Amino acid sequence: MGQLEYNLPMPEIIEPFRIKSVEPIRFTTREQRDKILKDAKYNPFLIDGDDVLIDLLTDSGTSAMSAAQWGAIMTGDESYAGSRSFKRFEAKVREIFGFKHVIPTHQGRAAEKILMAIVGGAGKIIPNNHHFDTTRANVEFTGAQALDLVIDEGKDPDNLHPFKGNLDVAKLQRLLETGNGGLGKGQIPIGMITVTNNTGGGQPVSMANVKEVSATLRKAGIPFIIDSCRFAENAWFIKQREPGYADKTPKEIAQEMFSYADGATMSLKKDGFGNIGGFLALNDDELAEQARNLLILTEGFPTYGGLAGRDLEALAQGLDEVLDEHYLEDRTATIRYLANKLTEKGVKIVQPPGGHAVYIDAKRFYPQIPATQFPAQVFVNELYLEGGIRGVEIGSVMFGKCVDGVEHGADRELVRLALPRRVYTQAHVNYVADVISEMYDKREEAIGLKIVKQAPFLRHFTAELAPV
Ligand SMILES: *Cc1c(COP(=O)(O)O)cnc(C)c1O
Repeated sequence: MGQLEYNLPMPEIIEPFRIKSVEPIRFTTREQRDKILKDAKYNPFLIDGDDVLIDLLTDSGTSAMSAAQWGAIMTGDESYAGSRSFKRFEAKVREIFGFKHVIPTHQGRAAEKILMAIVGGAGKIIPNNHHFDTTRANVEFTGAQALDLVIDEGKDPDNLHPFKGNLDVAKLQRLLETGNGGLGKGQIPIGMITVTNNTGGGQPVSMANVKEVSATLRKAGIPFIIDSCRFAENAWFIKQREPGYADKTPKEIAQEMFSYADGATMSLKKDGFGNIGGFLALNDDELAEQARNLLILTEGFPTYGGLAGRDLEALAQGLDEVLDEHYLEDRTATIRYLANKLTEKGVKIVQPPGGHAVYIDAKRFYPQIPATQFPAQVFVNELYLEGGIRGVEIGSVMFGKCVDGVEHGADRELVRLALPRRVYTQAHVNYVADVISEMYDKREEAIGLKIVKQAPFLRHFTAELAPV
């Protein structure tokens, strides 16, 4: 040993797992996909999962559980009250997040619903870097206003700021001083930050920013809540990009981040490696008591929330695994790898690539198609037709509006390709890049779409379209 020199072409990063259990994916012909797409009215939300080869619709609840998680499932204690599995879950959440009260919910929005029911209400304002859709909806449902205060760099797709999820502290300070109409801070019941900033492209928030936001809110006596769905990916970006954190573990970084907050909402369908699950965590005894009272109304008894004992076991295990450095390195490298391949081809994406997805700029992919003919929807349709791949439109179908029969486009025409965790291999990612490369070569032939049927709200889920 030691005398021989090997010069093997070792990849810099390999998938940090081997596969114990597999699931076949279904291949279709282009002809079949043409018919499937027509039958789905050119809306990939209406395609059956079984007809999709590679599903990049979301990274939520689509992750692969580990052998240890499946093993933990069998040890679940289904006691209605005082379940041993809850004890394990609570201890793990406390270890990482550090909050006193841990309230399990069936997913993230249930935690949001309970929190907003307590702190929201007409006339109130809840600031965030960028509210996720369900957070915004739960805030607005109470009559309160959901205010986005992300830094300006976070809104520019070409800006290479390392922490484009940061909240603009000067704007927060101004809000606290003046209220939104001179009403003062009484109308701001909590302040939030979302890590990573999903709506802004999966962009991270720096520790310095979390600290500053925390100090600003605490000085005003306002509780600080972190929407922590992708906390592990955020911790990894801090380790990579922020001075002073290279030698810390992702867990230490997460612990420090949450030490500046008074509570957290969490979807364990993201960085919990769960197919379902969430929680609300709080330090304040009184708030926690109110939250538990609401929990019993809709989710269940406080030692299981909306979850089975076996889920709680698998999630406690998942929270440990998601902080593994090899996993996080592979996760972010995979996104970067896909982003680089597309960029080399000439495809414009939101830069720098975030933690869980690549966001393609369809406006610059199909410049001949106006927003009122849905270029991002054309992209997701072509992606399915060409390769059986499903992405999601974040453009004028989702955010545009039809007023008196006239379409008004949205500001951005993005396509999100979200990668489920530990599900697809590098060969799958290469295939995705190859399909988009084909599409790029044929991009001038693409034509627009029109909406033929739509619902009054959240039309993107059910809209029916046709080629113009
Ligand atoms: C997914 C998500 C939520 C909501 O969680 P669900 O489990 O889908 O209800 C809230 N905030 C962010 C940032 C998310 O990504």
